[in-house]
Amino acid sequence: MAVRRPFVAGNWKMNGNRASAAELVAGVLRGIESVANVEVALLPPFILIPIVADLLKQAGGRIAHGGQNLEVHASGAYTGEIAGAMLRDFSCTYVAVGHSERRSLFGETDAVVAEKFVAAQTAKLVPILCVGETLAERDAGQTEAVVQRQLDAVVQRSGVASLAGATLAYEPVWAIGTGRTATPEQAQAVHGFLRARIAAQDAKVAAGLRILYGGSVKAANAVALFAQPDIDGALVGGASLEVRSFADIVKNSI
Ligand code: PEP
Repeated sequence: MAVRRPFVAGNWKMNGNRASAAELVAGVLRGIESVANVEVALLPPFILIPIVADLLKQAGGRIAHGGQNLEVHASGAYTGEIAGAMLRDFSCTYVAVGHSERRSLFGETDAVVAEKFVAAQTAKLVPILCVGETLAERDAGQTEAVVQRQLDAVVQRSGVASLAGATLAYEPVWAIGTGRTATPEQAQAVHGFLRARIAAQDAKVAAGLRILYGGSVKAANAVALFAQPDIDGALVGGASLEVRSFADIVKNSI
């Protein structure tokens, strides 16, 4: 069985400034000093990436960083957008693709998300592909159909092998920023479904793929979530803005 290293990524969303970013980075570095076996990444807003990148580099690279989004095109007349190569230029390792806020607030379709996934890998970034259902979809019994559709759009565009260079995140929309977490059993059911779906096409890729859970993860609920066999870490929003909460989630992910 493949050993998957736990991974915790903090999505700062549109929060912070230079001073708070520096404080947060320093605090998280101190807070996770004693934890060796967990990969950690921070996803700041674009404009804070340079400062975060410098601070993390000075600290020896214990924590990786990445973007929350990227533009499909590599360069050109796309006012206000940021390309994958620009993120790489600031030594980003990761980029989130298809976060539910991008899908619902900025109109990103499955097809656009699939193109962003390609753009990320073309720029040598590791996409963190986010999938998840709304509450209405869950209540209608469509959870599996929705995450399958979102995953398949990427697999059909890029091939199942492309997932070997990616991370998947299951983020039920009804749990994001709401304080309402999926139970460990609910999350495991979807993680297991996604892994089985991938395994049907490539067992090795499925066994090695890290699938993060996201949606109101806190230190208190992290232990039970991380104990599930197909949950390999967390994509953390709100709690990633608080040093203690984020550091405790990282500690609880082993
Ligand atoms: C997220 O934005 O990816 C997220 C999971 O947010 P929160 O932890 O605040 O629910």
